[in-house]
Amino acid sequence: MSDERIKVNIIGAGLAGCEAAFRLSKRGYKVRLYDGKPYVKTPAHSSNDYGELVCSNSLKSDALNTASGLLKEELRLLGCELISIADSVRVPAGSALAVDREKFSALITKKLEEDENIEIISKVFDDWDTDEYTIIATGPLTLDALADSIAKKLGDGLHFYDAAAPIIDGSTIDYSCAFTADRYGKGDGDYVNCPMNRDEYEIFYNALVSAECAVLHEFEKSDVFEGCMPVEVMAKRGKETLLFGPLRPVGFFDENGKRHYAVVQLRRENTEGSAYNIVGFQTNLKFPEQQRVFRCIPALKNAEFLRYGVMHRNTFINAPKCINKHFQCLNYPKTFIAGQLSGVEGYVESIMSGLIAADALIACVENRPMPVLPTDTICGALCAYLETPSDDFQPMNANFGLLPPPEKRIKDKSEKKTYLSQKSLESLKKAIF
Ligand SMILES: Cc1cc2nc3c(=O)[nH]c(=O)nc-3n(C[C@H](O)[C@H](O)[C@H](O)COP(=O)(O)OP(=O)(O)OC[C@H]3O[C@@H](n4cnc5c(N)ncnc54)[C@H](O)[C@@H]3O)c2cc1C
Repeated sequence: MSDERIKVNIIGAGLAGCEAAFRLSKRGYKVRLYDGKPYVKTPAHSSNDYGELVCSNSLKSDALNTASGLLKEELRLLGCELISIADSVRVPAGSALAVDREKFSALITKKLEEDENIEIISKVFDDWDTDEYTIIATGPLTLDALADSIAKKLGDGLHFYDAAAPIIDGSTIDYSCAFTADRYGKGDGDYVNCPMNRDEYEIFYNALVSAECAVLHEFEKSDVFEGCMPVEVMAKRGKETLLFGPLRPVGFFDENGKRHYAVVQLRRENTEGSAYNIVGFQTNLKFPEQQRVFRCIPALKNAEFLRYGVMHRNTFINAPKCINKHFQCLNYPKTFIAGQLSGVEGYVESIMSGLIAADALIACVENRPMPVLPTDTICGALCAYLETPSDDFQPMNANFGLLPPPEKRIKDKSEKKTYLSQKSLESLKKAIF
């Protein structure tokens, strides 16, 4: 039974905040939904409507053999309002779920305004009251004063930009051109090393320095690259610069005791070794270019990318230190942090976090155990990722590397993804029906 007397504050009427508002309202909760709009907007927002898609109008693939397709299907099963709205305003885009962005936000806004349980209030928050039930969902461009308060209250730093190296599917590394070892034989052989001879390095280098970069927004230009140089920028400083940086070959020798010309290192992303990041390869290359260029590394010629490298303005918390898998703050149990700010990455992932946070908050108010989705579902796996201890937490999108690998070996990649998808949906149905 919901407690009608409790009003929930949601700060930020973006994708996560709007989904959370609908969810709470459906369960009979009164919601005060706050946003700076229409008077104060972030540099990426331009519409007066809520649930604005700030860039692409695509919610990515709807195909079930993709992680983003699976995520949306799970959300449909969970009764997600924003995916249902997206389905109703979709535009033809092959297998992708693309929407008419204006109709999408206009419909969200209309439904919010018509909802008797939801009061929309235009207000910029600089701080919040930790004694009131609150979901903070102010997004990757959270306005400065609130960002400062979050940083102070959570006490474990807040990141203001994302500089991440690509993550690849561990089963697609070509081990005939790679070996596991640590530099100078120290350690437990945790790294996978991808050596290159001079000719191979030349091919890789030329592809890298001539590759096309993603265009930065005006508001990102000054601060994004501070403290973390993209691999392509480092390469442009000189042909040998990388050989003294992330590709340095020292401490590794071939079977004849000779040093390799260059060595790219891969580091495990998870204990199963199903996902690896390319060490020191923070990059701002366009996604197709990352695939083309990094596949010039012989051991990565068939690499499947689970997540591409990104460098952009992105405000996010150090999730494993600040929240649990229910998006609840560890220090302030009445505060939940959802959306891109929580460390998920992407439109649909943000929507998912709003839904899960709202369900968890309701359970918290009603003094019930919080619902836990199985970790072989993509929603459950992404939530679990957020509380997995990490020295270098990076935001994450939905990808098959988060799921436990199949119990049996499935060679065909598409078959493997379809299998994981089906298993995930079955598991979710069992958990909720
Ligand atoms: C420039 C840019 C482009 C992106 N492009 C894509 C893309 O193409 N595809 C994709 O999947 N993901 C993209 N993302 C990432 C992410 O998925 C989106 O930013 C997504 O909208 C995040 O959802 P959210 O609910 O966390 O925040 P948002 O949707 O950004 O909503 C946050 C809301 O909070 C409000 N707000 C902020 N601060 C305050 C405050 N102090 N007080 C009150 N209100 C406040 C804002 O006005 C806004 O309405 C992009 C991000 C950026 C920054």
